[in-house]
Parts: sequence; C-alpha cells; structure tokens
Amino acid sequence: IVPAYVATVALLTLAIERNHRVSRRALIALVLTDVVALFTAVALVTAPAFYPRALLISLLALQFTQLFFGRSPALAVILSSTAGYIGLLVVASMRGNAIAWGEEGFLLALYLAVGLNGMALQASANRRLGALVDLFSSAQRGDLSRAFIEERGVKPDGITLLGRAYNQLRSELATMVLADPLTACLNRRGLDQVLNQAVSSASRFGGEIALLAIDIDHFKKINDTFGHLAGDAILRELAELLSQSSRGGDVVARVGGEEFIVLLPGADNETAGVVAERVMNAVRAHSFRTARGHQRVTVSVGIACEHVRDGHVAGALRARADEALYVAKRLGRDRAVMWAPGIRSNATPLSNIAIAAD
Ligand code: GH3
Ligand code: MG
Ligand code: MG
Repeated sequence: IVPAYVATVALLTLAIERNHRVSRRALIALVLTDVVALFTAVALVTAPAFYPRALLISLLALQFTQLFFGRSPALAVILSSTAGYIGLLVVASMRGNAIAWGEEGFLLALYLAVGLNGMALQASANRRLGALVDLFSSAQRGDLSRAFIEERGVKPDGITLLGRAYNQLRSELATMVLADPLTACLNRRGLDQVLNQAVSSASRFGGEIALLAIDIDHFKKINDTFGHLAGDAILRELAELLSQSSRGGDVVARVGGEEFIVLLPGADNETAGVVAERVMNAVRAHSFRTARGHQRVTVSVGIACEHVRDGHVAGALRARADEALYVAKRLGRDRAVMWAPGIRSNATPLSNIAIAAD
C-alpha cells in the first residue's frame, strides 16, 4: 500500500507542477488517494471490531484538508470515508463477521455530525477572514469607506480583534489619506469617495446632486503681494466659510491649490444657485485675517446639477462644474454660472447669481 500511495501522490504532484496550477479536480484526487490508502490499510491489518479507527483517522485527514485545500476536497473526504466505511462493513459481513448495523449507523451519524460541524466552523472563520482581506485590499486602493462589522453572537476571537484593530487604524488613516492638511476639509481622493457614494445612493432613488466648483479670483496676485503664508491663511478661512455657508450633509473639499468643491446631495438647480449666492456673499462680506493685515477676496463659482439615473454621472458632474467655472472666470470673475449644454460658446452669466430661469 505504501509504495502505491507514494507513487500516486508523486504522479499527481508531477502533473500539478507541470500544469503550473492546482485544479480542484487534482486536489480531490489527492485527498481521495489518502482516503483509499487509509481504508485499504485498515481493511488489511485491522479486525472488524476496530474499524472505527478508520473514521477517527479520517477526521484528522479532514481537518488538514479543510485547512489547506478548502471546502470541496473536505467534502470529498467526508463522502468517500462514509462510502469506504460502509464498504468495509459490507465486506466484513460477507466474510461472515456479525455486524451491529444499528450501532454502526449511529457511529457513522456521529462521524458525519462532527465532520460537517468542523467544516461549517472553518468555513465561517474563512468567510470572516475573507471579509477582512477584502477590507485591507480596499484600503490599499485608498478606499477606507467600509468598517469591519462584528458579527453578533460570535464570541470575540482573534479575527474580531484583528477587525477592531483595522477599524482603529482606518479612522486614523482616513484623516491622513482623505483630508487636506492645510484646511482639514476633504482632499480630492476624499471627495471622489464621498461623491461616488452620494451618486450611487441618489441613483437608487433617482435623486438630484449638485456640485459647486469654487475658485479664488486672482489668488496668484494675493500670494505675490502678501506672501504664501497670507495665502494659506486665506485658504483656511475660506474652507471654514464654505462649511458655514453649506447645509448639514453638504461636503466641502479642497481639490486644487485654491479650488474647492462643495457637494450638495439632494440639491436641485435652484437650491444650488441659492447656496452659491450665499457662499459668494459670505466671501465678499468677509475680511480675511492674515499676518499682513486684513484682505478681501472674491470667488467664482461653477454650478452643475444632475438628476441621477445611473451611477456614472460623478465624472460628468465634475467636468461640468469645471466648465461652468471656466465660463464664470471668462465672464469677469466674482460670479456664479450654471452649467448648460453648449455653455462655452453660449455663456449665460447668472448676473451675479440671479438664476436665469427665475
Ligand atoms: P484666477 O482668477 O483665474 O483663478 O487666477 P488665479 O491667480 O487665482 O489662478 P492661477 O491658477 O493663475 O493661480 C493660482 C495660484 O494659487 C498659484 C499659486 O501660487 C497659488 N496656490 C496654489 N496652491 C497654494 C497653496 O497651497 N497655498 C498658497 N498660499 N497658494 C497656493
Ligand atoms: Mg484662482
Ligand atoms: Mg485655480
């Protein structure tokens, strides 16, 4: 038996190495080799009274198989061992041995219960570990939006502790990865995430989303005249003003040097126009404190609004808001422009926000 077993395993290993990949069929063939060798050995060297040993050894094989090879090969071990055990009993009975079929049936039922329960436990641990691996690979792509969710009824084990550690790391990383260090509002990556989430939730209910692209007018001149530190102070104060001028649920992000985006989930054209007007008025009225004295600045605003019907409008919204901003600059700055088709060639200023449609 031993040389036959070694030869079969060697052949299978050779075939696997030649294919450069391990198919499920090859794994099942490997574990069936184990089971056949085990039951043949038991049949040859063990008296029928001790056949249950085969089931005990099969449980050991099952543990290794589930751990290293996964579910289908493990199931193959359980099914082939059950068949092998019944085969042993039938042969023994045909040779004239008295078999207590009721007791043997009970023993097999116990074997199946222990084996399947072990498989279910291992599968649940694998699933929870898989969820964690998924979270880590999302985090690697910069997506920290999902947290590890503890399953109710599961006693905190190593996986739960790892999940908790991930959640803690996630909240610290999120600040580093998704926030702009100068103004503490979201950065471009943070905005992309929030915008995608807002678009996908709006697409479920057919809601609206508006974006304001806000750019400080002649900021370079401010920097050149008063220095970068003064410029930085203005950027910080502007971020704060934008947060104050928007509603709860709105999101402010700094996406470029002196360019901000305000995301307004659920806002239609009119609401977006009102918010843009409020922002511009707040900026006009504000006296920005810098080390070089108080400064006044103005901003230009591009507005894009979309009734979301599918999940692919995020890019279009950004591009439209930018296009409208470009037009606002071209029309003389310190104004808001609402995006409309053909806007570049046919620019309609909202006369310092008087919404054209009104
Ligand atoms: P426009 O009205 O057309 O927007 O003119 P602008 O001068 O604001 O625009 P431009 O793109 O010519 O210049 C942007 C300036 O923003 C250039 C750069 O000095 C400044 N800037 C970019 N990032 C920062 C920053 O982090 N801090 C400071 N202080 N300035 C920055
Ligand atoms: Mg500018
Ligand atoms: Mg700019």
